[in-house]
Amino acid sequence: MAKERTLCIIKPDAVEKKKTGAILAMLEDKGFDLVAVEKLQLSQAVAEGFYAVHKARPFFGELVDFMKRSPVVVVVLEREDAVAEYRKLMGATDPAKAEAGTIRKAHGGSVGENAVHGSDSLENAKGEIAYFFSASKVAPTAG
Ligand code: ADP
Ligand code: MG
Repeated sequence: MAKERTLCIIKPDAVEKKKTGAILAMLEDKGFDLVAVEKLQLSQAVAEGFYAVHKARPFFGELVDFMKRSPVVVVVLEREDAVAEYRKLMGATDPAKAEAGTIRKAHGGSVGENAVHGSDSLENAKGEIAYFFSASKVAPTAG
């Protein structure tokens, strides 16, 4: 299995609770390399653009308001089978339904404020990484 990259966003709820370090540690413990990490404040336009696929959903406005409430930490993750392995570690969208040992079980508060984002396919991961990081800001694959 070849190495892949995927995008993680540590959402405002988890950053506010000072769980950034705890979440990065869970990722490293599962073998993910953190090839780019940046803390930033999403604007209305950037949050809307990132979640454009959910524009028609009833929670879209609430989701955008939440994501721009306070800073997020965007992280490019790399390991073998990164997209699927990170979705597993992230857990179900609703933290109440997430399995023990997942990031959302440990740090999510509700279906909306669920601590982290993760890309849902390799194709979407490529687009999401490019949305936040120019190539010069992402480390090369190690070894
Ligand atoms: P995931 O983040 O697990 O891929 P989705 O792509 O379906 O889930 O939804 C994107 C984000 O929208 C979720 O992570 C969550 O923050 C928010 N969201 C999803 N469903 C709801 C809901 N029913 N009510 C409020 N917010 C929601
Ligand atoms: Mg999704």
